[in-house]
Amino acid sequence: MPRRTELIEGLMQRHSQVPREAVIKEDLLRGGIAFDESALSDSANEAAGDVKPKSYFIFSFDHGTLPELGEAALRRPPEEIVLTGGPYDLRRTVVSVRVNPSSPYRVAADADGLLGLYLDGQRISDVGLPPMPDYYRHKLANGKSVMEVAPTIQWGYLVYLTVFRVCQYFGAKEECQYCDINHNWRQHKAAGRPYTGVKPVEEVLEALEIIDKYDTAKTSTAYTLTGGAVTSTIGGKDEADFYGQYAKAIEERFPGRWIGKVVAQALPKEDVQRFHDYGVRIYHPNYEVWDRYLFERYCPGKERYVGRDEWHRRILDSAEVFGPRNVIPNFVAGVEMAEPFGFKTVDEAIDSTVEGLRYFMAHGITPRFTTWCPEPTTPLGKANPLGAPLEYHVRLLQEYRATMEEFGLSSPPGYGPAGPGNAVFSVSSFMDSLPA
Ligand code: SF4
Repeated sequence: MPRRTELIEGLMQRHSQVPREAVIKEDLLRGGIAFDESALSDSANEAAGDVKPKSYFIFSFDHGTLPELGEAALRRPPEEIVLTGGPYDLRRTVVSVRVNPSSPYRVAADADGLLGLYLDGQRISDVGLPPMPDYYRHKLANGKSVMEVAPTIQWGYLVYLTVFRVCQYFGAKEECQYCDINHNWRQHKAAGRPYTGVKPVEEVLEALEIIDKYDTAKTSTAYTLTGGAVTSTIGGKDEADFYGQYAKAIEERFPGRWIGKVVAQALPKEDVQRFHDYGVRIYHPNYEVWDRYLFERYCPGKERYVGRDEWHRRILDSAEVFGPRNVIPNFVAGVEMAEPFGFKTVDEAIDSTVEGLRYFMAHGITPRFTTWCPEPTTPLGKANPLGAPLEYHVRLLQEYRATMEEFGLSSPPGYGPAGPGNAVFSVSSFMDSLPA
């Protein structure tokens, strides 16, 4: 049996509590997918085809730069794929697309034109593609596309508003060592793609107007306001007022239409209160990696400007404003094991991560995680092109669920349905692994 197939089947057997869908999804998220030319769209025109294209909604989430991806950069791959059936009898599983031309996983069409996912040359599932939403076919008055201003992900559930496309933590001494937000901005500019650095509030409202008009099924349920950290100001506004102004404008124009979320730094309580006053309902002050030594080295800007202890204190304080259920800090699952400073064994990495989960869950706060994609232009991606071991990701899913159960918590709000076959959250399989 080829080694990668052996690896996933071994983990499915040893961790039978983790849905087998999640084992494959984590492997696709950490290592990427190759696309056969037969599986790419026919057009570089992002609004022309029948398939919803990859929007590059914040980071590149690819295993190569745009010039390295060749055809897969020119003829856009889909935003997500959905897996079903095959020899593992997969229930419907939505996976965010991270392109890697040298991945052992390949999406290709068979002789009848039906798409499948192939591992080590064997077809392991059927592949469905996201249909082009009607709202992507309409442009703003200034000619910008809805996909550029207000892309949707998670099979249309979440409007992803990266309103500030760069980060004021800049350069090797400040940028988080796994983050390519600044590089991604540069590469899209270099490729001549539209990629607005700071999105004007009016453009966001106009794009949302189009989504609201054409999303007649009301699939889009939440929006996330996010972007780089603001350490000084943008247009005279600090971080809370900068991101908050969008929430205020959205809530005034479309009261209660979507659940408002913001991903921002862990800010002092007065600033967090302003987010809430502006209409934000879920706050993501991401703590990135739990271990102190790793946080100091992998998040040097956050350590220097705020510091790990203060960051954690502010997370707990924000629960007094939003309520603990609505404070959902993210961590980047996998960087615990990244060379040069990461843990050398899965046991140590899991112990550390679970310590962090327990710290927050004991206060009623439910962290969540995205699966680390080792983008090649980041220091950690360069040093660890294969990412973290799949065993780490699978055991984390098991421990995450067990720790939630221990503290009497259930799946966090704002992520759509939970459970294998139901989940739409696409950049980690934590929702696929929780009870329906
Ligand atoms: S704070 Fe870190 S993870 Fe967030 S955008 Fe800036 S560099 Fe990236």
